[in-house]
This record gives sequence, C-alpha cells and structure tokens, in this order.
Amino acid sequence: MALLLCGAWPLDRPEGRAEQQRWLQALRQALPGEDWVLHAPEGAAQAAAIEVAVVANPPPGSLQGLPRLALIQSLWAGVDRLVQDLTLPPGVPVCRMVDPAMNEAMVQTALWATLALHRGFFQCQQQQRTALWRQPPQLRAAEWQVLVLGQGELGGRVGRSLAGLGYAVAGWSRRSRQHEGVTGLHGEEGLARGLATADTVINLLPLTDETRGFFDAARLARFKQGAGFINLARGAHVDEQALLAALDAGRIGHAVLDVFQQEPLPAPHPFWSHSQVTVLPHTAAQTDPRTAAEVVAANVRALRSGAALRHRVERSQGY
Ligand code: NAP
Repeated sequence: MALLLCGAWPLDRPEGRAEQQRWLQALRQALPGEDWVLHAPEGAAQAAAIEVAVVANPPPGSLQGLPRLALIQSLWAGVDRLVQDLTLPPGVPVCRMVDPAMNEAMVQTALWATLALHRGFFQCQQQQRTALWRQPPQLRAAEWQVLVLGQGELGGRVGRSLAGLGYAVAGWSRRSRQHEGVTGLHGEEGLARGLATADTVINLLPLTDETRGFFDAARLARFKQGAGFINLARGAHVDEQALLAALDAGRIGHAVLDVFQQEPLPAPHPFWSHSQVTVLPHTAAQTDPRTAAEVVAANVRALRSGAALRHRVERSQGY
C-alpha cells in the first residue's frame, strides 16, 4: 500500500520543489516506513496501491482512477477548492487539516487585529505619517463588542480567547453552539442583531455556496457605523467593491484583510494604499508541516485500525 502526496506546488520552480520536499520530510518522520508516490501514478499497479491521498489543493482530476483510495486527507484547513472538484471519487471520506500550530497562529492574528482596532492603534499609525499627536479614546474590553462569524475550529477558539481577555463576544454559526463566555447567535435574525451592535466583526466562515459573496453591499450596510472588519477566512466571502464603498462612506471604520479575491493582491489594487485598510499577505495562520504531519499520521492509523477518522468534511455542506 502507498500514500500519494499531491499538491498545487509549482514543481517547475525550485521553491515549489522545496515546499513539496519539506512536507515529504515531515510526513516521512511522522509515518516511517511508508511508500510515497509524488506524481501521477504510473500504470494500473501503482494506482491500485494507493490507499491514502494527502493533498494540498491538487489539480482537479488528480484523484481519479485510484480503485483502493480510502481516505483523502487535506493538508489545508479550507477545503473549498478541493470539494468543488466534481471528479473527486464519491464515497471516499475527505478529512481536513486541524493543526494545533495553525490554531494558535489564528488566535494570535485575531487578538492583534482586535486589540489594534479597539485601542485605535491603526489610527495612531496613520497619525504618525503627519506627526499628529492625538490620543484615541480608551474603552474597557468589556465595552467593546466583537462578533465572530463561524464558531468552528478557528472561530470557536478566537471567540473564547477574546472572551478570556474580557471582550463582549458573540459567535454566529449555522447550528446553535455554546462556547464558554461567548453569546451564541444563529439564523438571519441572530446575524442582524450581532452586526448591528458589533464594534469589530471577524470573519471565520468556510467558503461554501451559501457563504460566497457573504459580505455584499446589503450586509455591509447592516454593520454598526464605523465598525472594524477583520477577514481571516477567504477573499471570495467579500464583494471588494462594496467593501471599498462602505469604507469610503465610513460605515466600516477600518478593515484588516488577510485574504483577497485575487492572491497575491495585484499592485494597483486600491486596498494597498487605502488609509483604512491593513493588508496581510494571507499569513494569519499557516499550516506547520511539523505538527500537521502528526495530524495526517493519526488519521492514517485510524483508517487502518478501523477507528473513527477525525475532522471529516461534510461534502454536501462544503466544509
Ligand atoms: P470550521 O471548523 O469548518 O467551522 C466553520 C464554522 O462556520 C462553523 O461554526 C459553522 O457552523 C459555520 N458555518 C458554516 N456555514 C455557515 C452558514 N451558512 N451560516 C452560518 N454559519 C456557518 O472552519 P475553520 O477551520 O474554523 O475555518 C474557518 C475559515 O478559516 C475557513 O474559511 C478557512 O478557509 C479559513 N482559514 C484561513 C486561514 C488564513 O491563514 N487566513 C488559515 C486557515 C483557515 P456549525 O458550527 O453550525 O457547523
């Protein structure tokens, strides 16, 4: 039996090959003695040997023709591109990455951005450009309402951590969720209530048919006047023109954006130079091969022992 490692790494470039090798090394360490296939299987015998595909947004069609494939394990947390591949073998479980190092990094990014919005530090950065000495108002954390959209692995952690620092946190999810210190909201009515009162809105929704284009002009118009917006999930959640209009109108006071419709963000994009936008280069939380490889290994062992697989994706829901 063999494992297939398949990603969208640009293997015609040294950095693409280095990235693939970095993953292979970590996976070999976590799963010693396994056979790895690093390219499209050659011939029926090699294809029939593949039991697990470990994937990082593989080119569509890559997982066809593998008769013994029993597990598709994503190296990325977001599986939006993976599950859109209509050639993905039906019935084969898809599991996504829930990496402790990535979880930790996402909490750090969300805390930094929320603190900077709450304390007016982005504003101070702007003021420095014109040597303007003006102290922003200092509110208590409990007076600052944060709405976290998505209460899954990342949103749940972010909400609990902010609540731990004393922020007034609400969390919105599809089903009703209870996280310590976080007011659970769901449904359109819960969303409307949360948006109307939040000083900071953090997006940690998955990208699905239901959430694509979620932040359109109508939703942005429901934000509290001057609210901060932190998008750490996917660029396709946001209508960027509508966001620019909401920033210019002052409906959104400041946006911290880690993800974009097009990445890398093109040089002429107005976000780069907008005084109310902080751009991050999709770096809120990266998967760490050292810890992620252990997560892959645990699922491969679970598959072989007949134990339950962890972090299984509901393919019909898209996350
Ligand atoms: P997750 O564990 O799958 O959680 C998703 C959450 O969103 C759940 O609470 C779910 O509700 C809720 N949800 C899904 N569809 C919804 C809908 N239509 N209406 C309301 N709530 C809905 O996802 P995650 O691992 O936390 O990841 C969150 C996002 O972070 C993803 O977009 C991922 O791609 C992104 N991400 C970004 C980076 C980065 O560096 N920027 C890194 C990693 C991940 P239920 O609880 O009811 O199911």
